[in-house]
Amino acid sequence: MIVMKFGGTSVMDATAIQRSCSIVQGRLDRKPVVVVSAMAKVTDQLLAMGRAAGAGDREQALQLSQALRDRHYKTARELLGPAAYEQFHCTLEQEFDVLDELLRGIAAVGELSPRTSDYVVSYGERLSSKMCAAAFSAMGVNSALVDAREVMITDGQHTKAVPQIEEIDARAQAIMGPMLEAGCVPVVGGFIGATKDGVQTTIGRGGSDYSAALFGAALNAEVIEIWTDVDGMMTTDPRICPEARRIKVISFEEAAELAYFGAKVLHPATVLPAIRKNIPVRVLNSHNPANEGTLIVARAPHSRSVFKAIAAKKGITIVDVCATQMLMAHGFLRQLFEVFDRYRCSVDVVATSEVSVSMTVDSAQALPRIAADLQKIADVHFKERNAIVCLVGENIREKPGIAAQVFGALGDINVCMISQGASEINITFVIDEADVPEAIRRLHKHFFAAPDPEVFD
Ligand code: ASP
Ligand code: MG
Repeated sequence: MIVMKFGGTSVMDATAIQRSCSIVQGRLDRKPVVVVSAMAKVTDQLLAMGRAAGAGDREQALQLSQALRDRHYKTARELLGPAAYEQFHCTLEQEFDVLDELLRGIAAVGELSPRTSDYVVSYGERLSSKMCAAAFSAMGVNSALVDAREVMITDGQHTKAVPQIEEIDARAQAIMGPMLEAGCVPVVGGFIGATKDGVQTTIGRGGSDYSAALFGAALNAEVIEIWTDVDGMMTTDPRICPEARRIKVISFEEAAELAYFGAKVLHPATVLPAIRKNIPVRVLNSHNPANEGTLIVARAPHSRSVFKAIAAKKGITIVDVCATQMLMAHGFLRQLFEVFDRYRCSVDVVATSEVSVSMTVDSAQALPRIAADLQKIADVHFKERNAIVCLVGENIREKPGIAAQVFGALGDINVCMISQGASEINITFVIDEADVPEAIRRLHKHFFAAPDPEVFD
């Protein structure tokens, strides 16, 4: 069997859903499980209506909900024949009526808890999966809806719940296994799940890729296909650097680093289940299905090029911690990281000297509280609007002089922090956000002047 995950833009309207359906039709002999995201932008809109309701603005919340209702009705009408539409319209109507009820309730209380937010947001995937299952049937594909909440079992950390692997394995096999046997295509929403007690959860933004990989691992898929709206993973962001090339093949490790440090096409956790079962992942373009996309595998073929890609992650805050008591002392770093741990704030890049430590965080939310705690042991300074630039490639292990080339290519661009060595497959540094486009263009020009045709398109 295979898993085919379609992202928001691959199900954004009737045309996109039909296109995705014909891609599925071309692979029926491989027994696909189809995982879908919410229609493009819907998750943001649901979050916005939840926030509006939480702030007590009932009218605004209901207006946003009406727009969403109209969009889903319109799409369903275009997809289904009159008889099927009439039936499906009732289903949609019921769903939206309950959503509106919920929004009125939130507005009345004037509070949106993470648990309630998950409930509101879940409508995106609940509706898109129902819509796709109905559309696939209307287009003659033997398919059936699977309720994600019965398969994707998670813990109770709302908005970033942790999937419970054993439970998911057992449920996916029990529910989807027999459907596949019977030649039926299960259609399931990504991103959403439920606790064992049936409380609605979500697994973090962009999490549908991760859902797909978890289902793929549970069912021992031959491949996990991630269908998106670009031709795969690129050497860098083509909007910044038009010379960016498609990466034909990349390793799990490299892909995970890239996804974590800014390549938006793939959720970084996607490779974890794939690694566990050694299942290849392929990133493909539903608008250009003939393109072979990017293949992500355990061991990528040796490439002549040093790097596979350059990624940048903006919105980074540098935290500088200076403590004279650290001089020749021990246990200071433990104290320091304990404070970050207390506020569940994750640190990406670290650089230390004898009396100071610099760290980067991508969420400044907890920083005032962290600073208050740290003030007791050190001086703390923040610097906002930085970016982490990350060059990824397994070949840097073997090549001397790479760092000199990287910083040589950067020329007069100011570098605030440097980190290399930890994973042996990346060189990471921190610069001012405003310098990102120029830095990327300079690095790309230097390292991708003659890319290896075996690895790059
Ligand atoms: N719909 C969710 C989001 O926008 C999950 C996903 O698309 O992967 O974050
Ligand atoms: Mg995504």
